[in-house]
Amino acid sequence: MPVTATATSAVPASYLAPVFAQYPLEVVSASGVWLRNARGERVLDLYGGHAVAGLGYDHPGFTAALARQAHACNFQTNAVAMAVRERAAARLVRFSQLPFASVFLVNSGAEANENALKIALRATGRDHVAAIEGGFHGRTAAAGAVTSGAQAKWYGFPRTPFDVSFIPRGDAAAVRAQVTGRTAAVIVEPVQGLAGAVELGAPFLAALRARCDEVGALLIFDEVQCGVGRTGHPFAANLYGVMPDLLTTAKALGNGFPCAALLMTQPVTAGLKLESLGTTFGGGPMACAAIEAVIEAIESEGLLEQVRRVGAAIRAQCVVGPVTAVQGAGLLLGLRTRRPARQIQAELLEGGILAGTASDPQVLRLLPAYVLGEEHVELLRDALADLTP
Ligand code: PLP
Repeated sequence: MPVTATATSAVPASYLAPVFAQYPLEVVSASGVWLRNARGERVLDLYGGHAVAGLGYDHPGFTAALARQAHACNFQTNAVAMAVRERAAARLVRFSQLPFASVFLVNSGAEANENALKIALRATGRDHVAAIEGGFHGRTAAAGAVTSGAQAKWYGFPRTPFDVSFIPRGDAAAVRAQVTGRTAAVIVEPVQGLAGAVELGAPFLAALRARCDEVGALLIFDEVQCGVGRTGHPFAANLYGVMPDLLTTAKALGNGFPCAALLMTQPVTAGLKLESLGTTFGGGPMACAAIEAVIEAIESEGLLEQVRRVGAAIRAQCVVGPVTAVQGAGLLLGLRTRRPARQIQAELLEGGILAGTASDPQVLRLLPAYVLGEEHVELLRDALADLTP
């Protein structure tokens, strides 16, 4: 299924800010795990729009739920009670199978992290946050401050809003040295997404939990990319058996309808005051209908089990051609490549398969929809096997 590259010259003058490198692909429609370009050529999407399209495209239940809510009432703020908002929050907590007591609904991963950090700094009265080397948390002032390497590359603010230090992955001694009585919070992606689907592992996450308890800091899991079923479990917290004080999630939560959530335990919730947090669009009824529909589909279609099964098939079958190993969890996978991953990405796309890259140049990142099947894994395996090792 060869795909014709979209020539840059074919794109008319654009008024969009020139900040995104473009894939040589223009999508006009999509269904299931398949994208279609203007020529009608199909592309197998293993990237899911940065891990967002968890249900894939044109999912009947999701599309119908959004249409129903648009007809019923497309917007009211958080100052006006709506049953769909209550249902979405309750459903998310139930889905998590974790002892969370409240949910603050916002619009993006960065905004969820921004609020989580603010809550932790205010609750503890401290001025230091520890993050993990390789972690990505978003591009706003606080989320960018705890993003590894942001200061050198794109941060842009003259100073960070609090002191930050970065703990090397897996370094227990550094956890003790850097997480102290000054530390308000430790923020961590249990599986680092942009870094290339790097699992930090249960022992390291448990060490962070223990040290936070010792010094009275809060533990924030950033599950913006690895949450909502992406690992084959509701959250990575379930997979690794470590309970955070705050958990942020976004991306697959809305399957493309912009939304994010911050889940909090009872002690964190007890510290919240009226008007201490706010948002206009967060918790809007369309976003809430999207959240409900996503969780309904994951549960009723057995998608957690499918993510685990199809993820295992990729691990078992795709160490071929230029791929030397597979890392990550569920359908958040990094294929370690002998040649630069960008080359492999370009070659796969010429053959009709879209994959992502990572900040590690030797890792090809896969973030497909949870509805991906074994038949699609075979297409990937055969395409990889045909490439020069
Ligand atoms: N945290 C993680 C782990 C992410 O992967 C991302 C986005 O890629 C973010 C936060 C930021 O989310 P958003 O782009 O929705 O602000």
